[in-house]
Amino acid sequence: MLTRRRTLALGAGLALWPRGPLAARTRVTGVQRRTVGDLTVTALLDGHLDLDPAEVLSGVDAEAIPGLLERAFLAGDAVATAVNAYVVESGERTLLVDGGAGDAFGPSAGHLLDALAASGVEPEAVDTVFCTHLHPDHIGAFTTADGGARFANAELVVHESERAFWSDASNFADAGEMMRDFAAAAQAALAAYSGALRPIADGADIAPGVTARHLPGHTPGHSGLVLDPNGETLLLWADIVHIGPVQFPRPEATIAFDVDPAKAAATRRALFDEVATDRLMVAGSHVSFPSFGHLERRGDGYAFAPARWQYEL
Ligand SMILES: [Zn+2]
Repeated sequence: MLTRRRTLALGAGLALWPRGPLAARTRVTGVQRRTVGDLTVTALLDGHLDLDPAEVLSGVDAEAIPGLLERAFLAGDAVATAVNAYVVESGERTLLVDGGAGDAFGPSAGHLLDALAASGVEPEAVDTVFCTHLHPDHIGAFTTADGGARFANAELVVHESERAFWSDASNFADAGEMMRDFAAAAQAALAAYSGALRPIADGADIAPGVTARHLPGHTPGHSGLVLDPNGETLLLWADIVHIGPVQFPRPEATIAFDVDPAKAAATRRALFDEVATDRLMVAGSHVSFPSFGHLERRGDGYAFAPARWQYEL
């Protein structure tokens, strides 16, 4: 029932609501938490990047893209692509999955530490940092301003092919400026954890009930995590999808940041088939919040069914 005091409080709240484009806006802090067996998984919103699908996508007819965006009720040149990281907690372990964009792409992303604080996890409590791959939108919070390890009590876990690829300067001798910048950022992240680096192979145990899944193509060591602690399963698929409104219906669409586009598309196709067939719950680094959901087949492609919003942490 609305008492007089409650009505007054609501009125005060409404006065603070932004009123149009000139009002100061506050960025939304995104935190969503679910349980998977005896694990707790928290999605943390680092922010978003505006990507122009026509500019960054290949492997699909350019003329098809506007129609796909329209079908998803999107207009304009840019699609806001979420940047997500995750925390997986068991009784005794605290695992951070990826580190957001830091300051690599401007103020729309790089807010992972705020989301981590809102979720109640202290950086010192993180004992394992799992890096899905070493692209700059996944490693931003790994280092402090002076190049040290932000997660000082953690080991950095990354696929051996990923470590090897970004560490080998000869891979970038003839590369463009973007790739050389990416490599420099990857090498800085690896250097910060040089005393606590754990290169892994496909299927490695990361924590109880958590194993690595190699999903190569986007980068050589690109890996997700399979959580199946007590018969429940969640697949964190990392960068299998960047622009959902195009890549769910057309999995053959590849992105400019793929190191091996053909392999990335083949990996996505096979994984989509598996996820839809097995009715697996997934979470994606660039899937819109809450970022958890399922895939259903639709025609020759797929559609994403988002999980319900969680109202309590
Ligand atoms: Zn990414």
